[in-house]
Amino acid sequence: MAKVLIIGAGGVGHVVTHKCAQVPEVFSEIVLASRTEEKCKRIAAQLQRPIKTAQIDADDVKQTTALIEREKPAIVINVALPYQDLAIMDACLATGVHYVDTANYEPIDTPKFEYSWQWAYQERFRKRGIMALLGSGFDPGATNVYTAYLAKHHFDTIEELDIIDCNAGDHGQPFATNFNPEINIREITAPGHYWENGTWQTTDPLSVSRLYDFPEGIGPKKIFLLYHEELESIVKNFTTLRRARFWMTFSENYLTHLRVLGNVGMTSIKPIIYQGQEIVPLQFLKALLPDPSSLGPLTKGRTCIGCLVRGHKDGKEKLAFVYNICDHEACYREVGAQAISYTTGVPAMIGAMLMLTGKWQGAGVFNMEEFDPDPFMEAMTRHGLPWSVITPIAPMA
Ligand code: NDP
Repeated sequence: MAKVLIIGAGGVGHVVTHKCAQVPEVFSEIVLASRTEEKCKRIAAQLQRPIKTAQIDADDVKQTTALIEREKPAIVINVALPYQDLAIMDACLATGVHYVDTANYEPIDTPKFEYSWQWAYQERFRKRGIMALLGSGFDPGATNVYTAYLAKHHFDTIEELDIIDCNAGDHGQPFATNFNPEINIREITAPGHYWENGTWQTTDPLSVSRLYDFPEGIGPKKIFLLYHEELESIVKNFTTLRRARFWMTFSENYLTHLRVLGNVGMTSIKPIIYQGQEIVPLQFLKALLPDPSSLGPLTKGRTCIGCLVRGHKDGKEKLAFVYNICDHEACYREVGAQAISYTTGVPAMIGAMLMLTGKWQGAGVFNMEEFDPDPFMEAMTRHGLPWSVITPIAPMA
């Protein structure tokens, strides 16, 4: 039915390509392009159906524009890095092609992410009659839709939101990140922010924690407050929210490694001169750490990511937790990737599918919670990420 261009052949690109290949009735042709074409070819060789591959530097708008003009896709799924978002959006504008990504723009030399840069494309996308769907991964992505789903079906008003991301899996490595190490470490070492009573509150990095009892046998885990990009769009789109926070689990081992690496300057993005050459310590660290896509065969255990909402229904206070549990080994059996790449890649495919089938439509730049959550929730169950809603006993402090 439609041709898709996927940009980025890392852990997430691997899953997006596999999942698009499973839905030929929507994604009738697939082109996978990345900086290192060899990685695209390796993914292509695992598939049951032929796809095209290409080499591209997506920082270069002209190259992406030329590739789009040559291949004529109906949609571009950007699963390269956040640094490429604006350049790829520019190429979509130049060619009149729809756009989907999983992470908001971040300038390479400033550890700061926010939607302002991409929201600024609103008028240009609207006038061009094309759609950009921002943050169609799990968090952001499924978490935005979970919030919209609870608001639509379980509450009259939602007042408190806690997005909770638990990776209870183990890859057996002394220290590794589950997605791009540079992006991951930039996010985790930044100050925490959360929304309370109409303003952003700031906390020192990883300084606020709680114990949360996860369902289905995962049990109690320590969670840490972080800033995460979906909070910015969710509080804008759900104005009754009095408080909105994001939490993630980390093991003591992970935090100890991170502290030591931070103390010796290895997580810094400030360039230094080493033996006459300029290097960025964090980029050098990334080169030393395991490639997240290599963790697939090693990772065991489950993830649980969900949204805990407190609000009112029929005049009564209510609490609900909507979540998905994903098993690392089951993901590896299905597509040859661990659950973090899987939980990001499946929603990226679903976002593109809903756009191509006309279920989510619009001209302009959109966040996930702006659309009807029902077709997305239905597709999540059908494509490998089933979810449940439970009523927890107590709200989070
Ligand atoms: P990886 O580092 O594994 O993959 C990134 C890929 O993009 C690599 O293949 C890389 O090429 C390619 N790439 C980088 N720069 C360019 C460029 N200039 N031109 C073309 N290709 C380029 O990252 P992940 O797969 O782990 O993450 C992909 C995206 O998904 C990131 O933006 C990340 O933030 C996001 N993400 C979102 C999540 C969510 O839930 N919303 C969760 C996890 C990740 P090369 O192989 O040559 O390095």
